[in-house]
Amino acid sequence: MAKKDDKAERLEKIKADILKDKVCPELAVGATQLVFGAGSADSQVVFIGEAPGKNEDLQGLPFVGAAGKFLDEMLDAAGLKRASVYITNIVKYRPPGNRDPFPDEKAAFLPYLMRQIEVIKPKLVVTLGRHSMEALLPPGLTISNCHGQPKRYNGQVYLPLFHPAAALYNGGMRQTLLDDFAKIPSVLAKIN
Ligand code: URA
Repeated sequence: MAKKDDKAERLEKIKADILKDKVCPELAVGATQLVFGAGSADSQVVFIGEAPGKNEDLQGLPFVGAAGKFLDEMLDAAGLKRASVYITNIVKYRPPGNRDPFPDEKAAFLPYLMRQIEVIKPKLVVTLGRHSMEALLPPGLTISNCHGQPKRYNGQVYLPLFHPAAALYNGGMRQTLLDDFAKIPSVLAKIN
């Protein structure tokens, strides 16, 4: 098994490659900085959102705004600490005005996201929202039908969930997300 420092170093190399390869230069010019990901490289769970928003762009960290607050609450309810999991996004620069990431932007960042997952080797990948679900899982899935249901694909277990921001605009969604998050420990236990 790779040592912790090896993993951290390998993650740093992926970050450096994104900069060296000039991925999505048109997004990069409008962004304050690259938001690569944060948390433990040894985590059993990796959470993948859509793209940085305003606060994430300013702080260089994923999910630190309003959606991040709710994510923290759900992590807490599921008995997980933010520092012990790994959180990232499919697209790693803030899209202008928080628009949805374009398909070519998701495609451009996908190989780097796959490398992050390959280094961390989590038991479970939790996709937050349809953008990361569509990037990582086979076509034809709809989030309203498959949220909260673990799926094994190409040897990796995934749990597609709604995006935490959805709960900010829709009160009913809040409980759905909390219920789905609460499944994480038992899904992990089954994989073990
Ligand atoms: N929404 C996301 O998808 N990612 C973030 O990092 C913040 C908000």
